[in-house]
Amino acid sequence: MQRSYVIKPELGKSYPFVSHGKGIYLYDKEGNRYIDGCSGAVTASIGHGVEEIAEAMYAQARSVSFAYRSHFSSDAVEELGAKLAEWAPGSLNWSFFVSSGSEATETAQKIAIQYWQEKGYATKNRIISRWMSYHGITMGALSMSGHVLRRKRFVPLLADGPKISPPYPYRRPEGMSLEAYALACANELETAILRIGPEHVAAFIAEPVIGASGGAVVPPDGYFQRIREICDKYQVLFIADEVMTGVGRTGKPFGIDHWGVQPDLMALGKGMSAGYTPMAAAMATDDIIETIARGSGLIMAGHTYSANPQSAAVSLAVLRYVEKHQLVEKAAERGAYLLSRLRELADELPLIGEARGLGMLCGLEFVKDKKTREPFPLAQGVTARIIKRAFEKGLLIYPATGGLDGVAGDAVIIAPPLTITTEEIDELIALLKESIASVEQELR
Ligand code: PLP
Repeated sequence: MQRSYVIKPELGKSYPFVSHGKGIYLYDKEGNRYIDGCSGAVTASIGHGVEEIAEAMYAQARSVSFAYRSHFSSDAVEELGAKLAEWAPGSLNWSFFVSSGSEATETAQKIAIQYWQEKGYATKNRIISRWMSYHGITMGALSMSGHVLRRKRFVPLLADGPKISPPYPYRRPEGMSLEAYALACANELETAILRIGPEHVAAFIAEPVIGASGGAVVPPDGYFQRIREICDKYQVLFIADEVMTGVGRTGKPFGIDHWGVQPDLMALGKGMSAGYTPMAAAMATDDIIETIARGSGLIMAGHTYSANPQSAAVSLAVLRYVEKHQLVEKAAERGAYLLSRLRELADELPLIGEARGLGMLCGLEFVKDKKTREPFPLAQGVTARIIKRAFEKGLLIYPATGGLDGVAGDAVIIAPPLTITTEEIDELIALLKESIASVEQELR
């Protein structure tokens, strides 16, 4: 019996035990091979079993793994901070290190609130976010999340802020141009700010590309530019949640770079350490940090493992690996190939309503009726069946279900390591096609 956590027996047999990984492949102890078609949880972006990361890990462990952040900084931490400042847009030059994406978004939320307090605006403490968003599972992060299924049970405990509509081009009002739709969605932010009063709003948070709650939903051009204008007009900070999109995943250093918009705060995780260690960060601009430094001088956040040298050394080695192997550029090139192959599948298979994505972050949405775009009820478990079938065939893909209303919305994320070759993409597509086609047959 596996004692790691509880799952209902009818959801499937217990998990196989992983034995090792190499490149885009994972192997279980029975010798089965799996293509990691979603980098786990869109995390293992440099692939599995990279020797030089193991070496960096060992080298740091031999000198010092843990030193508490209130006692010491370290070369690893400072070099990682400097490297991220090189990567990040504008004056996002400061990193506060944590251990998960949830901690990163929650820390960004706290820094935003504290910034306004230090400036003398103590009432600016609400965070506006969007439906169909996921910012993490801890209570502060879940409060900002619009992922209906994940939040429903805990609603009475959440410190809920206002939520606006996400841009969801596939389901925009019929006949509306993408340009008009982008503006209409962004303008909802202005309405929300005016309703509660800008004097109560600290920040707006959004994922550049919607991940876990929608399946790689890319906003129309113009959306984030308008968001930035509105934030500036009402003195509201813009937090880009780059936990899934950051560090090259979308074919640019950060997702928001596709629209040339500069956030005030950025949350990073996942690809920042590519799964080799728990590591994440909240990044802030010079203005934010200087304001806090001139005021109380202390960011009121942090965890025991924040800025530990071990995780910093591993994350730094991952960033250097991404640079050395030009994985950001490869994510753009090969991601375009992956999306073209997914679009071919969408043309062939009636179950796929849309194939979409940016760089190596792609998604498929499944529908009951391709013409009307009618979704399946979630209770039918279409996504779960496809994922299970793919698993049996040796392909891992990631669910993105029920994020919008908790009732419908079947989608998956296809986001292999950025190192994947075109031949390996073809192999992934073949297994994906077989899996979807076989579930489709069962449904007809
Ligand atoms: N933000 C985004 C955009 C995410 O996709 C996730 C995880 O999927 C998180 C935050 C939470 O990160 P973690 O699971 O590391 O806490």
